[in-house]
Amino acid sequence: MDMYIKEWVNEFIDVAISFDSWMEMDRIYLQNRIETILAVDLNEAVPNHLAKQPDKLTQLLQLLPANLTNEDKGRIESELGDLLTPPPSVVNALFAKTYEVDPKQATDYLYDLSKNNHSVSSHSFSERELFCYPFIKENCLACYQQEGKLTNNFSLAKRFIRMNLANESWMLQYLSFPQLLKEGLVSYEEHQLLPVNQQTVQRLFQLATILPQFTWVYRSQLEEELQHSCYHFARYTYPVLTDTSSKKSQSLLFSDVQVEKLSSDLGISLSSANQKSLEQAAYFILEQWKQQQPTESIQLVLRKQKEVYQLVVTFQSASRLANNQTLGMSDSSMAQEEKTLTETWVEKVMAFL
Ligand SMILES: [Zn+2]
Repeated sequence: MDMYIKEWVNEFIDVAISFDSWMEMDRIYLQNRIETILAVDLNEAVPNHLAKQPDKLTQLLQLLPANLTNEDKGRIESELGDLLTPPPSVVNALFAKTYEVDPKQATDYLYDLSKNNHSVSSHSFSERELFCYPFIKENCLACYQQEGKLTNNFSLAKRFIRMNLANESWMLQYLSFPQLLKEGLVSYEEHQLLPVNQQTVQRLFQLATILPQFTWVYRSQLEEELQHSCYHFARYTYPVLTDTSSKKSQSLLFSDVQVEKLSSDLGISLSSANQKSLEQAAYFILEQWKQQQPTESIQLVLRKQKEVYQLVVTFQSASRLANNQTLGMSDSSMAQEEKTLTETWVEKVMAFL
């Protein structure tokens, strides 16, 4: 039995309607828009060699002629993805409404939308692969001013969620080329580096409080590389979070804060149910590092589990930071001299705490 292209188009429109991008009365208009974009006749049968796909955008893309350039394919994929997606104001309103019910449901809504409209690749990239895509470095990944623009990094369908952090505007996005599960950035609305101070730490804790489903990372090296203040998040348990020696001691300086050295000796894990106290401890370490700069970069990895915050502070050279998977773990690429330096620094900070 023949299947008609129109049926495939209607399945795609069903997905668009399910995301509140359009309403039933928009169906004829959408059919015509898609017919124009794909340059096909909807009343023709689907070629026999093509099969249905669970992803409805992928299903439609099969109809494109094989000799089309990758650039044309990419543009059409992006246009159709955008047709599947509500405008930024609507995505933001739906996100906010869902957040009231459940924060995780809100980010999952954005994630599902981003997967369905292909603004987030379904492929998980390795560090090596990302390195082979030099175009990714062309534009600033953190700038939301590219919303609605088709670039090598961004699909037309990409959307940013506006967030208010301590009366400043910040933008949440899922990364187009992720390495980790549900990986994204929250970046300042302007392309600029904000001073590294107490607020740097406060924002990190605020993010982990309002969206505790993620592990949050402040990386001095990442924002310096982008020249844009940002925080990194993912659904990922970094090895450093579990690399603890289980020899906890109570901090003398900060009440209710438990301190322990990572078993790799290259970082410190702190935990507490007292958010303010742990924030102060984090800020104290950040200040010590800023004043002495014993290593090229500092990272604050924060997660909230039930009512307890766990913060892991690691110090590294820039070269070792690129790979998310080995974040904070000792590896052979670290020079002995640098390792000794970091260990000495960790000892010093531990002694203060
Ligand atoms: Zn930027």
